[in-house]
Amino acid sequence: MKSFGYAAHDKSSPLAPFHFERREPRPDDVVVAIDYCGICHSDIHQVRDEWGGSIYPMVPGHEIVGRVIAVGDKVEKFNVGDLAGVGVTVQTCMACENCLAGEEPYCTKGMVGTYNARDYDGKVTYGGYADNIVAPEHYVYSISPKLDRAAVAPLLCAGITTYSPLRHWKAGNNKKVGVVGLGGLGHMALKFSHSFGAYTVQFTTSESKINDALKLGADEVVISKDPVHMAKHAGSFDLIIDCVSAEHDINAYLNLLRLDGTLCLVGLPEQPVNISPFAMVTNRRSFSGSMIGGMKQTQEMLDYCAEKNIVADIELIGYDKLAEAYQRVIKSDVKYRFVLDNKSLKQ
Ligand code: NAP
Ligand code: ZN
Repeated sequence: MKSFGYAAHDKSSPLAPFHFERREPRPDDVVVAIDYCGICHSDIHQVRDEWGGSIYPMVPGHEIVGRVIAVGDKVEKFNVGDLAGVGVTVQTCMACENCLAGEEPYCTKGMVGTYNARDYDGKVTYGGYADNIVAPEHYVYSISPKLDRAAVAPLLCAGITTYSPLRHWKAGNNKKVGVVGLGGLGHMALKFSHSFGAYTVQFTTSESKINDALKLGADEVVISKDPVHMAKHAGSFDLIIDCVSAEHDINAYLNLLRLDGTLCLVGLPEQPVNISPFAMVTNRRSFSGSMIGGMKQTQEMLDYCAEKNIVADIELIGYDKLAEAYQRVIKSDVKYRFVLDNKSLKQ
């Protein structure tokens, strides 16, 4: 199947128009004409090869919303014309204990990412900065017509990546939850934590984001560069979700956890993390991580958002602004997710 999109050809050149081929749809495949694709910081890490092993040319993008334009014979959930979404995962083994438990991102055979990955047949996967995508229906989500579809796109990664650990560690009434970093993931963590009823504190390095954080649902905002302000929260949090994309001091946040509190890392900076043993043993703290979320939970999150009217706060842009958007994300100047509008994708 012919596809057209934008690709990175190496780790430093700007993304450029790119013609490529996807597989012909199999019986369980859905073909989606893409209308919108969010820009995740993971796209930037991988384009710049910050995690190592990047495969070029690379068509990034795993926050995909569009319309179904074809379905294979065995597809049951989707018909041509339906709204549909694709996220970070496009294949898993569906036989290991984690897949069977609905925890597909932790597939023991290894999940296949939507781009910059090799599918089980060895072919490279290409993502959503493109006009179409093919994926098995198990990895395609139903999208409610109630919500602004462009603002739904970031839910497919930023949304589920924060919803999943907040549910796992039971954020809710009588819990004090911290969110570190107010970017794409952070602003969704803030919205969900507030919506679940937790007392939610946003940590930010950007004083200019204080008012926005309060509007997005924060009960308090802490400027993390201010040690006196940080110390006021020592030993008080049940859960902290760390959404920061760059190197920073984790111990400063571990020290804010109460007895049995958990710091969950979702941000993926390129450098290893330094942990103080004393910050861990004090208060019997846990340091953990979480990766996106299972397919069933992703649909649950999308349905929850439709019911509660939750979407991302976005800046909708054309492909002509892609390089500028990357630079702004790197400078933490994102309000709070860039989404590519495919109306600007011209061959
Ligand atoms: P983003 O929009 O760029 O947000 C990151 C935020 O981190 C910034 O807005 C900024 O917030 C803060 N920050 C940036 N540099 C910092 C520094 N040097 N020190 C302290 N704070 C800093 O990124 P994103 O798209 O939300 O992604 C966040 C991270 O999650 C990325 O590393 C991404 O790869 C990762 N990720 C992980 C998963 C997963 O499954 N675990 C899924 C998706 C993404 P303030 O201005 O408020 O300080
Ligand atoms: Zn992502």
